[in-house]
Amino acid sequence: MYDFMIIGGGIIGMSTAMQLLESYPDKKVLVLEKESGPAEHQTGHNSGVIHAGVYYTPGSLKAKFCLEGNRRTKEFCQENGIPYDECGKLLVATNALEMERMKALWERTEANGLERYWLNADELREREPNIIGMGAIFVPSSGIVNYKRVTQEMARKVMERGGEVRYQTEVFGLKETPQEVIANTSTGDFSAQYLISCSGLMADRIVKMLGVEPEFRICPFRGEYYLLPEKHNQIVNHLIYPIPNPAMPFLGVHLTRMIDGTVTVGPNAVLAWKREGYRKTDISLSDSLESLRYPGIRKVLKDNFIPGLVEMKNSLFKGGYLKEVQKYCPSVMKSDLTPYPAGVRAQAVSKEGKLVDDFLFVRTKRTINVCNAPSPAATSALPIGRHIIQEAQTQFGLN
Ligand SMILES: Cc1cc2nc3c(=O)[nH]c(=O)nc-3n(C[C@H](O)[C@H](O)[C@H](O)COP(=O)(O)OP(=O)(O)OC[C@H]3O[C@@H](n4cnc5c(N)ncnc54)[C@H](O)[C@@H]3O)c2cc1C
Repeated sequence: MYDFMIIGGGIIGMSTAMQLLESYPDKKVLVLEKESGPAEHQTGHNSGVIHAGVYYTPGSLKAKFCLEGNRRTKEFCQENGIPYDECGKLLVATNALEMERMKALWERTEANGLERYWLNADELREREPNIIGMGAIFVPSSGIVNYKRVTQEMARKVMERGGEVRYQTEVFGLKETPQEVIANTSTGDFSAQYLISCSGLMADRIVKMLGVEPEFRICPFRGEYYLLPEKHNQIVNHLIYPIPNPAMPFLGVHLTRMIDGTVTVGPNAVLAWKREGYRKTDISLSDSLESLRYPGIRKVLKDNFIPGLVEMKNSLFKGGYLKEVQKYCPSVMKSDLTPYPAGVRAQAVSKEGKLVDDFLFVRTKRTINVCNAPSPAATSALPIGRHIIQEAQTQFGLN
């Protein structure tokens, strides 16, 4: 029997396993991952941004863990020879309304304790000759990294410290008894004293396996990107983000410098008809019905009907997508937008039809389940792992 079983070989599962073994070198830790390697889902399909913590509600777990995660991710990269670049980020306002919203964002960055600078149009042009705007907020601590690379290093440390990682092992049943948790998997049954689930897009299904009716469902939102041609690799010096609409802060495509030297545009946010469906044509009837049967997801779709249609239109036709980018970067042309792999976000939605804003954990006697860990959870993975261990210490009475 293991001491701890962790479901999920994404960045949260690996960060938790790695830090558990750091705190408890004698415990037997097993990571169960259904894919053939680490970071095959959200962690391996994202923008690669080390977020600074601009948007999040002051005092929330997101705000706290992102600020700390920004520092700790860079330290982890330095200690382990993983390339990262602290290139900084510009939030660019292109009209009077966005200038107003920029002031509110300025206040929020203050409340979240960030170093930042207010740039006027001339100062913006000086930093970014290819970007137009009335002004911008400059956040120097934002950076870029390859999160798959970070997770591979965490997995290596888990095994180095005596942890066991079983790939191609899918959990399809769970039983919690007063003494243990038993997992039925595609490669046999395993039991442990305690279970930690970090299963991303499958979080609600794992909770259901424990016999608990979750008060949320995972709604999968695909985020589609384009890659700019090599001639545009120097088009920007920083990460360029639009000023978001506070009602829909996750919308608005950005220009992202990637750690391999390329530049991507995106992501948008369209409902995915398959939880792990990365292509527009990926459809799962059972996943779609599961989403549409849930009143909360139906309400989200109804409440966001018009922006949802716009996102869908822009997903199907490059023209609309291009307009979003040209607002602040007019030199990008339609022919510059070449295909790039999409990602699928796991966003928890409540029964009442609200997108769950903060990181969410659901507990049973012997389990802790990470149930909402969208962006900036890759940035925040080290503090989230530490938080889970602290929770486990109190909840399970560990010394
Ligand atoms: C398009 C996009 C852009 C993003 N950009 C950023 C960004 O720039 N910066 C940032 O900080 N965050 C970003 N994020 C968010 C970030 O990628 C995620 O929050 C983070 O990767 C979540 O990690 P995770 O370990 O919880 O999930 P995942 O990486 O999805 O890992 C979950 C793992 O659990 C496994 N699993 C699930 N069910 C089972 C089962 N039954 N049995 C065995 N294994 C199972 C899966 O195979 C998977 O490997 C972005 C996300 C997306 C989708």
